[in-house]
Amino acid sequence: MIIVMKADVLPGSPEVEQVVRTAERYPNVHAEVRTIQGATRTLTEIYLLGSTAQIPLEPFEEFDAVEKCIRIRERYRSIGRHEGQAVEVGFEYNGVRFSQDTFHVFPGVCAVDTPENLEEMFRALRSEGIETTRAGAYKPRTSPYDFQGHGKACLPWTFELAGKYGLKVIAMEIVHEGQVQEIRDALRLAGNPTGVMLQIGTRNAQNFELLKAVGQQHEFPVLFKRGMGITLDESLNACEYLAAGGNHKIIFGLRGMKTNLGDPHRNFVDFGLVPTVKRMTRLPVCVDPSHSVGKRVVAPDGILDIEHVTAQGIIAGANMVLVDFHPHPEQALCDGPQAMLLSELPTFLRDAEIVREAYLKRRALK
Ligand code: PEP
Ligand code: MN
Repeated sequence: MIIVMKADVLPGSPEVEQVVRTAERYPNVHAEVRTIQGATRTLTEIYLLGSTAQIPLEPFEEFDAVEKCIRIRERYRSIGRHEGQAVEVGFEYNGVRFSQDTFHVFPGVCAVDTPENLEEMFRALRSEGIETTRAGAYKPRTSPYDFQGHGKACLPWTFELAGKYGLKVIAMEIVHEGQVQEIRDALRLAGNPTGVMLQIGTRNAQNFELLKAVGQQHEFPVLFKRGMGITLDESLNACEYLAAGGNHKIIFGLRGMKTNLGDPHRNFVDFGLVPTVKRMTRLPVCVDPSHSVGKRVVAPDGILDIEHVTAQGIIAGANMVLVDFHPHPEQALCDGPQAMLLSELPTFLRDAEIVREAYLKRRALK
């Protein structure tokens, strides 16, 4: 059950305390207070968790400060958009705001290789005014003989370089819960020059123990990538593990599905689901055109396949684009064939801007 408070009734106020006290009088009921910073108002929602089926709505509806009570019957209790929940849930991390209304591009390397290449990448981002990037230190690879990422050894110089070039958020995959502490320690040692968005990769989408651990830490936001071979419902349920642990700074990522029906692309592009996920949940939605298409090929109109599907994601309302670039793709230790060139970065960003503007214009027609 969710108790939605009237506008600007904030956590810690006597009104909120009264609702929490009333709820927790019922056996096995726990109240979790959440603040949602919407575009025009701050919203406080109190989630009643546990044995809530028998709790009547009336005692709560009678409080003056309560706007409405919502009984959750559907799945995705925490990430779901339940009847009457119109306000999108956003969050801010390291000065950057993420919600179903915002838009950020995260161009960067699939895997961190050398300090020289990373610096070239970051310099190009700064010259384009980009403050968000991707850089993998821990790589889940199909073959044990492939490059597995430099791991914690590259964190100090990766974070230092990010700080030097004004990058505020780095999307970085983790494959084991112990890596959260490695990242935390390295950030602290470097003087917190940047921030990290933990990425749960498609291969770990149903690694429930990892999801629980990442959900129980509330410091880092999480980019959860849809499982490549499971249904959307299964992915959303898996994503719910993060929120069930109390971490609500979540972005849901679409990155294509594994099936030969998408050939010759690496994965079958699923960006038509952007509005669907936004309707089913209140999470910002990311698209990853690089891991969907998997190759840097150009269509006869001169536009790369990666750019075409990026546009498809953005025109559908995507809030984030995660995309692979590399200063020297032929030297890349992971996913070189899908990396775009730094010389292509300005056009890529301009193209994304054009499509985002078109999306906003389409929305304004409604
Ligand atoms: C990645 O982003 O580098 C990655 C491995 O993505 P995915 O988990 O979608 O394959
Ligand atoms: Mn990759």
